[in-house]
Amino acid sequence: MSDVFAAAFDASPLPQALMTPDGRYLQVSRSLLLWHNDAPLVDTLSSLWNEKLQGPSMVKMVRDAMARKGSWSGELQYQTHKGPIPVQVHLQVVVKDKDNYWLASLQDLSLRKQADLRLQKMAYVDPLTQLASAGLLADRCSQAIARAKRAQQLLMLILIQPLDQAGLRATLGTDAADSAIQSLALALVKQIRHEDTLAHLGQGRFALLVPDLKDKNQAVSAFGLITEKLRAAAGQVQAGPSNGMELQQGGALWPEDANTVQRLQQQAEQALLSASNHPQLFTPALQKQLEKRRTEASAIEQALDCDEFVLHYQPLLNTESGETDSLEALIRWQHPDRGLLLPGAFLEQAEATGNMQALGNWVLREAARQFLHWQQQHPHLQCIHVNLSAQQFRAHYLLALIRDVLADTGLPAEQLCLEITEKALQWPQAADRIDELHLMGVRLALDDYGAGPSAIQQVAAMPLYQIKLDRQFIQPIPHARTEKQLSGLAALVQGMDKQLVVCGVENARQLELAQQLGSQLVQGFLLAEPQSAEAISALFDPT
Ligand code: C2E
Ligand code: CA
Repeated sequence: MSDVFAAAFDASPLPQALMTPDGRYLQVSRSLLLWHNDAPLVDTLSSLWNEKLQGPSMVKMVRDAMARKGSWSGELQYQTHKGPIPVQVHLQVVVKDKDNYWLASLQDLSLRKQADLRLQKMAYVDPLTQLASAGLLADRCSQAIARAKRAQQLLMLILIQPLDQAGLRATLGTDAADSAIQSLALALVKQIRHEDTLAHLGQGRFALLVPDLKDKNQAVSAFGLITEKLRAAAGQVQAGPSNGMELQQGGALWPEDANTVQRLQQQAEQALLSASNHPQLFTPALQKQLEKRRTEASAIEQALDCDEFVLHYQPLLNTESGETDSLEALIRWQHPDRGLLLPGAFLEQAEATGNMQALGNWVLREAARQFLHWQQQHPHLQCIHVNLSAQQFRAHYLLALIRDVLADTGLPAEQLCLEITEKALQWPQAADRIDELHLMGVRLALDDYGAGPSAIQQVAAMPLYQIKLDRQFIQPIPHARTEKQLSGLAALVQGMDKQLVVCGVENARQLELAQQLGSQLVQGFLLAEPQSAEAISALFDPT
C-alpha cells in the first residue's frame, strides 16, 4: 500500500516534496526533479529556506506560521537548475508515528508573472505613441505630490493638444491623424527633461508633469520656457499637407491651484480651454472668467433655442447706378432684457464658449434663405455677404458647412460672398483654405483691409474677389486729410485686380471721393444703415 502512495506522490503533476522540519528533502516528485534536471535532491536543503533567496524575515515568518498553525501558503522564490523562479507554495505539516514532516506543493508562477507584467506595461504605456499612459501619469502625479509635500515644493501639470484637435481626424482621416500625433509625440518628447513625464492621454491630447519646482516664480518662468520650446517643436511637425502644427497649452500648479491630482488636471484643462493659441497658466482670475463664460454660454445657447438672434442687412451700392448690388448680413441679438445687442456685445463670447459653430450655421442659412427670397423679385442682386471670424475661417467644419448650406438652400455658390479679415490670413494654412473655398465657387472678400498686418504680395496672390477698405481711412474726411492714404490704398487694390469697396461712407464728401477713386461699390450710413429684413423689403418695394 505504501508503495502505491509513494508512486502516486511521485507521479503528481504538481511538483511536491516531503521534507524534514529543518528543510531537507526526504522525497521529491518526478515533476519537481525536472526543475533540477534530475540532480539528486534527497538530504539537501530546499531553496525555500534559503534566506538570501527569500529574504531573512520571510523565512522566519514562514517557520513561525508553520509552528503556530501547521500550514502556510504564499509566494516564494525557488532555485531551479535554470535559475530562481517565482512559485506559489503550500506547506502542510504531516504527522506520522509522532514524527513531523512538511509537505510542500509548488506551482510555477513565472508565466503568469510575465503576463501580469505585460498587462501592467500595456496599462502604463500608450500604444499609439509609446509615451506614458494616463494611468502612469496619475501614478507619477501622486508620487510627485508626496515628494513635493515633504520638500515643500511645487509641481506643474501642462496639458497640450493641437489647436484644431477636433478637426485633425476630420480633415486628415484616422491613419494620417494617428501618424501626425506620433510625429508630434516624438517632437515633444525630445524637448523634455529626464525627470519630467510626458504622457499621451488619447486623441492627440498630451500631459506634461514637471515636478520639483522651488516656488511660484520658478514655476511661472518654467511654464513660459517649456511651452515656448514645445510650440517651436510642434511648428516643425508635418500634419498632412500642412507644415507645422499649432498647439494649445494650459497649465496648473500644485498646491497653488489644486490640492488633488484630479483637481490639478481639471484646472489645467480649464486653462487649456481658455488658451486658444497662447499658453495659459491657471489663475484665480481665470477661474472667475471661466465661471462667467459658462453663464454666457448657456445664455447664448438659450437665445439660439428661443430664436432671439436676428439678421440685419446693409446694402452695398453700385457707385454708377446707385442701385443695391449686394447685401451684407449683420447679426443682432434681440435680448429680452437688454434690447437689441450689436455683435460687439456677444460675438467674442460666442467664440470663447464654443457656440460660434451653431451661430455661424444659423447666420449662413438664414442669410441664404432671405437673399434668395429678395433675389426672386430683384434678379439684379449679385450676392449675399456673410462675415466669418478668424476662428470660423479656420474651423475644420467650415467647408462641409458651406457645402451643406449651399446644397440645402439652393443658393448658387457664386452668390455667397464670405468676408474674412486680415487676422484670418495670419493662419499658416490660410492660403490653402482660400483656395479650397475658391474652388467651391464662393466669392471671397477681404474685410477691413488696411487695418491689419497682411503682406501686400500675399493678398495680391490670393483668389480674392473683393477688397473692402477699413473705415478708418475714410472716416476722418473732410476733417483730416487722409485722402492720400486712401487713394494710395485704392490704387493698390486696383493694381491687384480686385474689386474695390469703400466702407463707412457717412457724408457727401466721402462719397464723392469714393467715386473719384473708382470704388465700384460703396457701403455706409449715408447710403443705407443696416436694417431689419422687413425694412430692406420696404426699401426695395416702397409702395
Ligand atoms: P464689419 O464686418 O466691419 O461690419 C460692418 C460694421 O460697420 C457693422 O457693425 C456696421 O453697422 C458698421 N457700419 C456700416 N456702415 C457704417 C458707417 O458708415 N459708419 C460706421 N461708423 N459704421 C458703419 P456691426 O453690425 O456692429 O458689426 C460689427 C462687426 O461684427 C462686423 O464688422 C463683423 O466683423 C461682425 N459681425 C457681424 N455679423 C457677423 C456674423 O454674422 N458673423 C461674424 N463672424 N461676424 C459678424
Ligand atoms: Ca463685414
